[in-house]
Amino acid sequence: MIIFKTFRNLNSTLQHLKKQGKSIGFVPTMGALHEGHLSLLDLAAKHNDYTVCSIFVNPAQFNNREDFEKYPLTVSHDIQLLEEKGCHFLFLPSESEVYPNGSPGQKHFRLGNIERVLEGEYRPGHFQGVCLVMEKLLSNIKPDDLFMGRKDFQQCMVVKKLLQLERLDTTLHTAPTVRESDGLAKSSRNLRLSPAERSIAPLIYKELKKIKENISVKNFNDLRAEAVAALEKNGFKIDYLSLATAKDLQSTDHYMEKEEYVLLIAAYLGNIRLIDNVLI
Ligand code: AMP
Repeated sequence: MIIFKTFRNLNSTLQHLKKQGKSIGFVPTMGALHEGHLSLLDLAAKHNDYTVCSIFVNPAQFNNREDFEKYPLTVSHDIQLLEEKGCHFLFLPSESEVYPNGSPGQKHFRLGNIERVLEGEYRPGHFQGVCLVMEKLLSNIKPDDLFMGRKDFQQCMVVKKLLQLERLDTTLHTAPTVRESDGLAKSSRNLRLSPAERSIAPLIYKELKKIKENISVKNFNDLRAEAVAALEKNGFKIDYLSLATAKDLQSTDHYMEKEEYVLLIAAYLGNIRLIDNVLI
């Protein structure tokens, strides 16, 4: 695997390969890699001749300073995992390489309602920050295919919109959430859970599944209240637990069999904010 620190060197290598007709798959990450990330690398390897993975903890998408400062960094281990996976290129830029003027800049993306609901409501500016870094990465790397996880369901929708807005010639592929054996969605932030918190954390997925199993026979608001009560009893602080249409993330209380929905949650355990979702 070749590690690049500058867009310039990465671009010149990729241009060379593209001229030879090779296709490029791209997996953007913030590092502290786990099997969720690795599933995206597997998918990229199936679709493309060459895979680029990026690791960059993007300050522009954090609206909480402590969350940014304490974000886990495990770069040497990440490099080892990427080598084992047969990833061809790692892009590991510094903050000044991505944001050369010392700040992320003022560019605004017209994302519409999708950036105002759910994560957007509780993390103002978050998706603008995601778009700032993704636009830079995508416009430089110009991958044929982009691989992202449905663990971050709303982020996938935002990036799909970004590809349209910027008229980028890249196809987005989304992959299912990879979970621990007890159901907890794999996440870099899980590393920050205390042993006691880690043992309680799988309750999030259990409650989502319970709602999913009962939603065709019971009222969603009642199911939601039961789930919230069970989670709060165990010390979770809930930002949202919402049912939304999968096509445009409109929140609703009414489930109809013919429509596809997604049930999304964001909740704190101590200082750690966890998100998860299930498709219905
Ligand atoms: P992150 O490093 O958290 O920014 O995530 C990088 C990519 O990995 C994003 O597309 C995430 O949606 C995806 N990802 C993170 N966790 C998982 C998971 N448990 N299963 C599948 N994909 C994931």
